[in-house]
Amino acid sequence: MKGVKVLKFGGTSMGSARAIKKVIAIIRKPRQDARIAAVIVSAMSGVTNELIKCAQLASKKDSGYKKILKDLERKHIAAVGELIGAKHRAKTLTCVDGLFRQLESVVTGAYRLQELSPAGMACVVSFGERLSGHILVGALTDRQVRCEYLNARHIITTDEQHESAAVDFVRTDKNIRSHFRKHTSLQVVTGFIGATPDGRTTTLGRGGSDYSAAIVGAALGAKAIEIWTDVSGIMTADPRLVPKAKVVPELSFEEAGELAYFGAKVLHPKTILPAMRKRIPVKVLNTFMPEDRGTTIVPNFAQRRKKSHTVDALTFKSPVIAVHINSPKFFDGNGFIARIFEVFNACRTSIDVVTTSVTSVSVTIDDEKNLPKIITYLQELGDVSIERGKAIICAVGGAVNAAGVAGRMFTVLGQHKIAVEMISQASSGVSMTFVVGTRDAEKALKVLHKEYIEG
Ligand code: ASP
Ligand code: MG
Repeated sequence: MKGVKVLKFGGTSMGSARAIKKVIAIIRKPRQDARIAAVIVSAMSGVTNELIKCAQLASKKDSGYKKILKDLERKHIAAVGELIGAKHRAKTLTCVDGLFRQLESVVTGAYRLQELSPAGMACVVSFGERLSGHILVGALTDRQVRCEYLNARHIITTDEQHESAAVDFVRTDKNIRSHFRKHTSLQVVTGFIGATPDGRTTTLGRGGSDYSAAIVGAALGAKAIEIWTDVSGIMTADPRLVPKAKVVPELSFEEAGELAYFGAKVLHPKTILPAMRKRIPVKVLNTFMPEDRGTTIVPNFAQRRKKSHTVDALTFKSPVIAVHINSPKFFDGNGFIARIFEVFNACRTSIDVVTTSVTSVSVTIDDEKNLPKIITYLQELGDVSIERGKAIICAVGGAVNAAGVAGRMFTVLGQHKIAVEMISQASSGVSMTFVVGTRDAEKALKVLHKEYIEG
């Protein structure tokens, strides 16, 4: 049986009539391998930011919000005009007009009350995806592609944290399966948004459309989830720092997760989870260069291990703070590390890298907010010292723990006089993480990229 696929188009892919035409060409391209069951859309690029600005101004009694609304309306109407022929245009225009009147009344309410709750903000930003969704449906219908608009509020059920809600997967999976059983034409789904069980709009957090795609793809047991964006895949390093960076053809979920966590920007880290649980490959592809191979994130790390014995991609996070705790008391051990972790947990500060010796523990954090409190508590456990101006470098691959990889890595860094601290290797071999001074971070990245990737 032919399986199904889920495609997601981000803000730049939906950013103009020109871009949306490329999206349509991708959707219409015949595919032998699977049927496209759903297309998840982001708001047109920049629109979510403008909606946030608009709501903020209104709630501060600044009538400047009106201009933002007018400009947004003009932008969407222009896209309709360019994309949709006379026969179907009126229907989409009526729909766009209806959405703007609703949006206007919500924002005007905020202006009058000088107040905007998180629920109100979620409602305001939801219009971005609802507008782009309706426009794509109009444009596809105009080209004889059978499709339907699906507001994700009907399928994605979340809790009440309106601006970054947690998904109720039991309900959501059930909703999605039952909806798609009844609706077999292509569903154009609004990314980023969901609703509470009583129907109030929520969002999944900024950049949440990738997550929406994974939620839908996982519930449908899709063969693949395609994330269409404006770059040709996940890069071996940030190309602004390393001009010779290139696309990594294949990564495991584990590697992609490490890269996303330490700052590579292509994929929303949460995306990994639903797809990973269901072992669905995720492809990152370029709407503007659809023939490029892109990056495939594969579910099988064991297979990746067989293929890759080197470093495949690099990223870094900067600045971070190193916190060192020294105490001879560590000699008689029992529960010391647990007590240290408990301090960070109680102070709601997450730890990135941890290294230990017999008499010391070092960790890195990126959030200084609770540092004074953390230091006070840690001082009860040992001598505490803090080093600012640090960066974490993370190298990923299928088998970074293979013989010689570490040796080669630190030899090269040594040859370039880069001092390395806090080395931490994942036991699975997926990553090698270590800390350098912020001033050496770019250099370390370049040197390692040259050594392992430029060859
Ligand atoms: N439009 C939303 C944002 O800008 C969601 C997304 O594009 O993924 O955050
Ligand atoms: Mg995004």
